[in-house]
Amino acid sequence: MPSETPTPAPAHGYLVVISGPSGAGKSTVVHEVLAKCPLPLELSVSATTRKPRPGEVDGVHYHFLSHDEFRTRREQGEFLECKEVFGRGDWYGTLQNTVSTGLAAGKWVLLEIDVEGMLAVLQKFPQAETIFIHSGSIEELERRLRQRNTETEDSLARRLEVARRELTFLSHYRHQVINHDLDTAVADVCRILTSLAARP
Ligand code: 5GP
Repeated sequence: MPSETPTPAPAHGYLVVISGPSGAGKSTVVHEVLAKCPLPLELSVSATTRKPRPGEVDGVHYHFLSHDEFRTRREQGEFLECKEVFGRGDWYGTLQNTVSTGLAAGKWVLLEIDVEGMLAVLQKFPQAETIFIHSGSIEELERRLRQRNTETEDSLARRLEVARRELTFLSHYRHQVINHDLDTAVADVCRILTSLAARP
């Protein structure tokens, strides 16, 4: 007989929403957390109509859909939440099936979505954990976005405007993590998730 009984995996997993201005290093933090945090984490792959950036892979970073495919799936009710972002005609959405399959398998399903997406998810999953990752200031965000060198001046200005607005939603999140230093931010998110696992 083994002397220790292993902790049973929860029958249902946890839903964790992570938001933050694009350029704040949110995706990097999330990917490091997925690699380092010893929990059954699973990143929900969203669908989008925007074009892939260099290095982005269909089915890994996003499901890249045409506008017609996105609309059909939206009309068929396949999205837990979806919306048009940045007023430039690009759609983003969380697939219901990805979330329910992950949760049923006992996974900690991470949604990397925007603030409106978070509010829509909370309507359906009020128990979802919410984390806002940001760079500390708009000036720092602008510096990072310029360094990334993937944006036109127009798109950069729009992203900064969105970031300013997103920061006003900070108080809706249960946790905030400032990404000054990657390892610290990853440890902070890991600690938040671990404390979730310890909750009765
Ligand atoms: P990006 O184009 O930089 O990948 O993402 C732009 C914004 O869309 C980010 O704030 C990101 O969190 C958000 N986003 C990505 N996927 C989803 C989604 O499925 N739903 C919602 N509401 N926002 C999303």
